Amino acid sequence: MKVISIINLILFSIFPVVTFVCYILKEYEIFVISWSAGLLIKSAVIIFIFWLLLALIIRSRDRAALITCAAILLAYSINHFYIFVKGFSLFGLVIGKYRYVAGVFFIILLLSVIYILKRSVLDNINKLFRVIGTALVITPVVFTSFHFLNFEKVKLDGGSKEVQKTFVTGKNLPDIYCIIVDACARSDVLKQSYSFDNSQFLNYLRSSGFYIAEQSRTNYSWTIPTISAMLNLNYLSSMNADRRSAALKLARMSKVTSMLNLLGYKIIQYSDCDLRLVFDNIDIYAGPDWYGNPIEIRFLTSVTPVEAILAGLGIGFSADAPKRHLVYALESMGRKEFTYRPQFVFAHLLGLHGPFLLTGKNNPANFKNDYVSELVQTNEYLKRVIDSLMSDKLNPPIIVIISDHGPHNVVDELYFSNDTSDEFLFERMSNFSAFYLPNGGNSLLYNTITPVNIFRIIFNFYFGANYELLPDRCYYSTYKERYLFRDVTDITNR
Ligand SMILES: [Zn+2]
Repeated sequence: MKVISIINLILFSIFPVVTFVCYILKEYEIFVISWSAGLLIKSAVIIFIFWLLLALIIRSRDRAALITCAAILLAYSINHFYIFVKGFSLFGLVIGKYRYVAGVFFIILLLSVIYILKRSVLDNINKLFRVIGTALVITPVVFTSFHFLNFEKVKLDGGSKEVQKTFVTGKNLPDIYCIIVDACARSDVLKQSYSFDNSQFLNYLRSSGFYIAEQSRTNYSWTIPTISAMLNLNYLSSMNADRRSAALKLARMSKVTSMLNLLGYKIIQYSDCDLRLVFDNIDIYAGPDWYGNPIEIRFLTSVTPVEAILAGLGIGFSADAPKRHLVYALESMGRKEFTYRPQFVFAHLLGLHGPFLLTGKNNPANFKNDYVSELVQTNEYLKRVIDSLMSDKLNPPIIVIISDHGPHNVVDELYFSNDTSDEFLFERMSNFSAFYLPNGGNSLLYNTITPVNIFRIIFNFYFGANYELLPDRCYYSTYKERYLFRDVTDITNR
């Protein structure tokens, strides 16, 4: 077998993963070495087996290598090309359908195979493929490097000095469960705007020992800023982080997880099937599937035709992945799957964010009713989780259940608008907050708490820190300008 064939095979087997990892790095500023390496190895193994079988069939390793490269190139291009022509019609006939595009690509592949098999000398095609392969590997790396050269870095504060100076360590540190129920409405909003009385769930929580901050508000109207502020005990502006990349980075490399790490906590994060919020220092990233991590799911669905092929065979693949991840997180917490001591468990639950995952009801005309149905099911799951977590009477855990903002009401035009009514702001900024801080911690909580102060209270009470509480402020930003904040504290304070 010729060296150039091997080089081509290597170039073509790594370029889709390299391109994808570079894209993710640029878009989400996330790079998990083990995930990227795993993806690279799995993809290389599959391609190697494909090549080997083909070589046995056509009795030529060189030709098999060329055909494999052509197949990879075509398989990789198909989704990109489809996005380009999607829905395109000619004389009233929709020709921009996936199966038509796939058909055309299949014919091109077939012609390429015939061409490669018929030609007696392969040198020129091999050279062409080497040039293409090299360009495909190098280009994304160069572009991504440029992106990061011009990158303004955020200063991270891991809190190690604070931990050394003030924090009390010991054997019996409580487990901490931090459950973010994305877009869960505050109960008065549910009553007023959704005609739903949530008091049954609230009574259950109270009787289990929870404190409910009935006038809780969120600091920001979007997920990442709120979680970032909560996990770093501060406002984004105070950390010079009122921009997307900085807020993302702070959420992923937060002070809370760093400090808990120093205190010996295992950091366990449940997958929400989204790539934005993966902590850098997790010990366990828990998800349900063999292709489990979100990088692999995203790769298979966006880069390869795997999803479309399986869908054609009637096999749901990625469409129900968010639901599987959500149900797994709820059930796994409910059976106390992880039992490290102490552990910090973080779950970001996207069921109420919409599309509604547990019920699958998603009729825009019926948004509020569908929202309530999803909420009722979410509450039932949460009850099971809480019952299970509270069963350990000797070492009760800290449980924080909050929403990052109010309902994600995309049906309301104001959601996308820059011109937002006070009513809409109130619904968006009023968040659900319930806490179980065992052994007296509840007494430090107050009715109008915002996320930025939650871990200040927890660290003060359980680890002997002495953080002053910050003034509770609320900053709204619009869908289009998510990092252009407007102080709306007065509007939310009614
Ligand atoms: Zn959210």
